[in-house]
Amino acid sequence: MKKICALVLLIALLLCGCAERAPVEREIFAMDTLMTLRVWGDEEDASAAVAEINRLDALLSVTEESSAVSMLNRDGAATLDEDTLLLLQTAVEISRRTDGAFDPTVYPLVEAWGFTTDERHVPSQDDMEAALALVGVGQLRFDGNTVALSNHGTLDFGGIAKGYTAQKVAELLQSRGVVTAFLSLGGNVQTLGSKPDGAPWLVGIADPENPSQAIGCFRFYDSLALVTSGGYQRYFEDGGVRYHHILDPNTGYPADSGLASVTVLARDGATADGLSTALFVMGMEKATALWRESEDFEAVFITEDGGIFATDGAASLLTECAFTVIER
Ligand code: AMP
Ligand code: MG
Repeated sequence: MKKICALVLLIALLLCGCAERAPVEREIFAMDTLMTLRVWGDEEDASAAVAEINRLDALLSVTEESSAVSMLNRDGAATLDEDTLLLLQTAVEISRRTDGAFDPTVYPLVEAWGFTTDERHVPSQDDMEAALALVGVGQLRFDGNTVALSNHGTLDFGGIAKGYTAQKVAELLQSRGVVTAFLSLGGNVQTLGSKPDGAPWLVGIADPENPSQAIGCFRFYDSLALVTSGGYQRYFEDGGVRYHHILDPNTGYPADSGLASVTVLARDGATADGLSTALFVMGMEKATALWRESEDFEAVFITEDGGIFATDGAASLLTECAFTVIER
């Protein structure tokens, strides 16, 4: 009997030890943003996560000359590695789902606005028309893992790479036996599993008017990707007008859909990231119509006049703010 008691006590102590174990924390700057990782594992697990982020940063960057995407942008064709191909296929699928509101071939427009440099500016009409003519996923041709892009079009993964990376890091940690992690890659949050102490994950939504403050807070317990796209995240001003970085591939101008931000919740990180950009371009009406015919995401919309609207699945996780529920 004593032996059994001792064993039970030992197991209980071990369980308590696990529950109280603090996560290993890392903070890195990659993909042009500050990232924080909390990994309930050992130092090697956290280092592997950082290495994976750095690997994907180099691989998916349009400014890294040796990346497959740079080669494709330069030469019009390239044989893609597994990650670049998968990400491009996901981007094209999201583009089709959103009627082109998300478009990975948007890079000529991003460049025309100078968002890739320190000299952001409103493009001339000629530059705008030249850039618009190069945009459209119809210009992509897939042949196995070789991809060609006609007319000197160019790709930009800026609207989806962080979500894809968060997903890949979560999968890597899982394959190493880590069951709990909290990854924040700029505006992209990805949780893995539940917190060992039984407390909920708490993830704030930034107030677009005052982004260092949260306007509301999600409370949940499991694995989820939460990604926010907002005009307030990157912009410049000219002549008293604010021009932000999420471009409408139809007009060439910053999307003007009446939204200040969109937060998408999904199981898959790349889907959450691509859709957050797309829904911001689409505006609430079209975005809600897409949500009604989809099963794989929920969303919270903040309108330019400060209204908060949450699809019913997102509403059940949203606290600390007043909002209108969008019913299915
Ligand atoms: P996000 O912050 O995820 O909404 O992504 C915004 C970034 O995606 C921009 O800085 C551009 O690099 C790129 N981008 C801008 N407009 C679009 C668009 N309509 N579709 C895809 N990517 C875009
Ligand atoms: Mg995005």
